[in-house]
Amino acid sequence: MARTAFIGLGVMGFPMAGHLRAKGHEVTVWNRTREKAEAWAAKHSGAVAATPREAAAAAEIVCLMVGDDPDLRAVCYGDQGALAGLARDAVLVDHTTASADVARELAAAAAERGGHFIDAPVSGGQAGAENGALTVMCGGEPDAFARAEPVIRAYAKAVTLLGPAGSGQLTKMVNQICIAGLVQGLAEAINFAKRAGLDTDLVLATISKGAAQSWQMENRWKTMAEGRFDFGFAVDWMRKDLRIAIEEARRNGAPLPVTALVDQLYRLVQQKGGGRWDTSSLITNLTER
Ligand code: NAP
Repeated sequence: MARTAFIGLGVMGFPMAGHLRAKGHEVTVWNRTREKAEAWAAKHSGAVAATPREAAAAAEIVCLMVGDDPDLRAVCYGDQGALAGLARDAVLVDHTTASADVARELAAAAAERGGHFIDAPVSGGQAGAENGALTVMCGGEPDAFARAEPVIRAYAKAVTLLGPAGSGQLTKMVNQICIAGLVQGLAEAINFAKRAGLDTDLVLATISKGAAQSWQMENRWKTMAEGRFDFGFAVDWMRKDLRIAIEEARRNGAPLPVTALVDQLYRLVQQKGGGRWDTSSLITNLTER
């Protein structure tokens, strides 16, 4: 069993840290809004630290799950940041979906302190975090990965090292590029089926057994057809992820025409107040016409 810290107890981090405790690891938590950390400690009987530095100081494996690059820098740097408390040989494991640049930057900063860094963004959403069934895409050094992997397993069904620091974030970008065009295709198909007067349930039951099958189809078809979006992965987060992918593509020269278009379609959803809706709300751009 490891001494761990968990920094960032949002929709994802709260249940992930809970799985660490359930597997018998020692867990010290820190959250910007302290009430959430106290609620977590009351539920899981772990320790609450006053700062990210204090949380990290107690741990061999320090997990992070915040929002974006600036949030990561806010919890990692400075006198009270996690890096200031990072013990020699400890591993900082970042589950935030962020840029590959910030991953490389934090890997260098951890190494300067004699520690290690693994970027480890996740796929599987809130349900995956709650069920301990996330897919974790990692970048970093093999030795550090080997030490972090058994801890990450507490909330994952798949944990893979894809290359040096930044490779996990680059893989998450590939994941989001796959999803963006697919959700728009699904939205167009459902809207078409409805306008064609088909029984959408029967259509799904039929085509989900064929080549059109996907996770998005299995898990989102019904709610999309019903127009329900008050759950799941928020459009605001998706736009952040697509911005990161589009910025990376500008550098590596990969054309992303469909991804860039879908990013703009999500912008329309935000403009009508759907920033917190699930990403399947793309269909509202079609149904409201
Ligand atoms: P969330 O519920 O909004 O939680 C964000 C967490 O980060 C909160 O604990 C928040 O603290 C903390 N935080 C944000 N900015 C901070 C700052 N500047 N300083 C300190 N703490 C800060 O978000 P989430 O849904 O858990 O998502 C977290 C990450 O996972 C994001 O990168 C997201 O893209 C990714 N992700 C999410 C999902 C999903 O389905 N939700 C799926 C895959 C990946 P407070 O409590 O004080 O606000």
